[in-house]
Amino acid sequence: MNGIWTQFGGNLSFVCLAISLWAHFSIQFQRGSARQEKIAFGIVAGAASIGSILLAVEFNPGLYIDLRFSPLALAGMFGGPIAAAFAASLAMAFRFYVGGTAMIDGLIVIAFATGIGLVANVWIRKRSPGLMDVALLSLALGAALVLSMATLPTLVHARVLALIGLPMTLLNCLATVLCGFVLLKTQQWALERSILVTAFSQSPDYLYVKDRNSRFITVNENMIRLYRFRTTAEMTGLSDFNLLSRPLAEELYYLEQQVIDSGVPLIDSVEHIEGRSLLASKVPLRDRQGRVIGLAGVTRDVTERVALERELRESKNLLSHAMAGMSDGIAMYDSKGFLVFCNDQYRDAFPLSRDARVVGAHIGDILRRVAETGERTGIPDDVDGWIKAAIASLHSNKDEEVQLHNGDWRSIRTRLAEDGMAMAVVSDITATKQAEIALRLSAEQLKSLAETDGLTGMVNRRAFDEAFARETAGSARRNTPFSLLMVDIDRFKAYNDTYGHPAGDQCLRVVSKCLRQSVSRPADIVARYGGEEFVVFLPDTSAKGAMIVAEQFARRLAQKNIAHTGSEFARVTASIGIACATGAVLRTNPNRLLTEADAALYDAKTRGRNRILAHSPSGERHAMKEAG
Ligand code: GH3
Ligand code: MG
Ligand code: MG
Repeated sequence: MNGIWTQFGGNLSFVCLAISLWAHFSIQFQRGSARQEKIAFGIVAGAASIGSILLAVEFNPGLYIDLRFSPLALAGMFGGPIAAAFAASLAMAFRFYVGGTAMIDGLIVIAFATGIGLVANVWIRKRSPGLMDVALLSLALGAALVLSMATLPTLVHARVLALIGLPMTLLNCLATVLCGFVLLKTQQWALERSILVTAFSQSPDYLYVKDRNSRFITVNENMIRLYRFRTTAEMTGLSDFNLLSRPLAEELYYLEQQVIDSGVPLIDSVEHIEGRSLLASKVPLRDRQGRVIGLAGVTRDVTERVALERELRESKNLLSHAMAGMSDGIAMYDSKGFLVFCNDQYRDAFPLSRDARVVGAHIGDILRRVAETGERTGIPDDVDGWIKAAIASLHSNKDEEVQLHNGDWRSIRTRLAEDGMAMAVVSDITATKQAEIALRLSAEQLKSLAETDGLTGMVNRRAFDEAFARETAGSARRNTPFSLLMVDIDRFKAYNDTYGHPAGDQCLRVVSKCLRQSVSRPADIVARYGGEEFVVFLPDTSAKGAMIVAEQFARRLAQKNIAHTGSEFARVTASIGIACATGAVLRTNPNRLLTEADAALYDAKTRGRNRILAHSPSGERHAMKEAG
């Protein structure tokens, strides 16, 4: 009996050895197609089954037990239909070759055991099997064997179940569990290996393992592509000296030997190879005793990143140079109103609130400082309201010109930028503003010079026409009377002849002063109409009012009592013509006032001078007064 069990142990060992050998070499088949691997597994399982038949133990004369069913069931479960077909075919062919009375039943049991494996294959489909699945397979196989021995005619006839049923079943179950465990582990390791291999070979980085002499042991696909090889094997045994220029290879060799000698990893060192920028890390590999046996390297191509970083750096430099070099101040405020960037010019543009204008400060606090220091003119009493309004309008496009406490001017152009940012550009416009003010002043002076008579300071003839048109139109609109005085100094030619021209000028000044003093309303205008002729406009004034003004003037002139020996009155006198108009006349023919006043003046002259004569709007002589 002992001999039988020893023999049987040999049988079990053979089956396990066959499956273990498969487990060991199956890795080779993983490089080929899945179909090839399944066929190979089927052949190995079939061979194990045949081997087990050959090593069968003669339990009783003519009764053999072996483990032929176990590899067949496992082929079905782990290899699927293809492996099962090959394994079963081999086993059946051999069983057929052996022949004997129980041949048909033997073939049926082989098919049955393989079928159990295939059912298990369907059972574990789409998931990875576990030990429990293997145990179930072995139980199912045991049950199938018992069933076969109890039903198949030749086996029943030979009383196989009674004689060897139990050991036969138990031993096949045991072999199935043992070999199934080996196959399970093999499957797990194969999966882990394929994950690692995929991760290594498909990595977007350059991965390699080198020995102590910096020769490649293995490389990933990226490395093969980089150096234009076809397979990993072609690179195995090469070193950087075979791939790169000598100085570069020496440099890398030196670095790697340092890692190997010191055992200290090199992390993220920058390498430049063939115009590309690489970020390399090299980690020492150690054996169980801690000795460094080589190194593993990871290199990342950062050419694009480095180029982008350089570009960014350059544009940043350019920008900050431009910012520093420009005369304008620039500031960026974020969407919440916080200052995120400003150049020195921006801060210098506002000396009193300079300290408050720092990155991180809020526009509200900056403006409060402006208000507190009185840096800007024109800040209303309601400082809070002003700040609130300024914050609200910060994120809108606007142009402002502000005057500082010291009279300087700043232009602030605010523009809405991306991401809700507001950009403020500040320029010193003091010189421009001062020039503008000076220009405006001189323009005003020029205008007043152009409109003023140099001798008397009165409105001159040029401005007279404009004022006449404006004032008559105004009175016409208001439907009020408009009066006009035309004043001419009597015998003035003679005055000049007698006293000289400068005295004549002085006389003109005195007369004009008297005229100005005779009008009282702001709207009244006195103009020098010609040489010694003056016109007085009296808007909203009746002929009667005009007469009062004329009389007042005549009285004032009389009071001056300017001696004039060439005059029949022995002093300087003037003749005055008055015209007055309202409504339609003013609207349609204002110039008629001038001709009427002129006519009245002419009459005053012809009637003996030194008198006031008024013409009514109808042109009739209305009133006459002898002055002085
Ligand atoms: P009449 O009583 O008819 O008005 O006699 P008149 O001499 O005043 O009249 P006329 O219009 O002939 O003379 C005006 C004189 O006024 C002529 C000119 O010498 C003098 N005159 C005009 N403008 C000026 C001026 O700006 N300065 C001086 N000194 N004389 C002036
Ligand atoms: Mg005259
Ligand atoms: Mg005159």
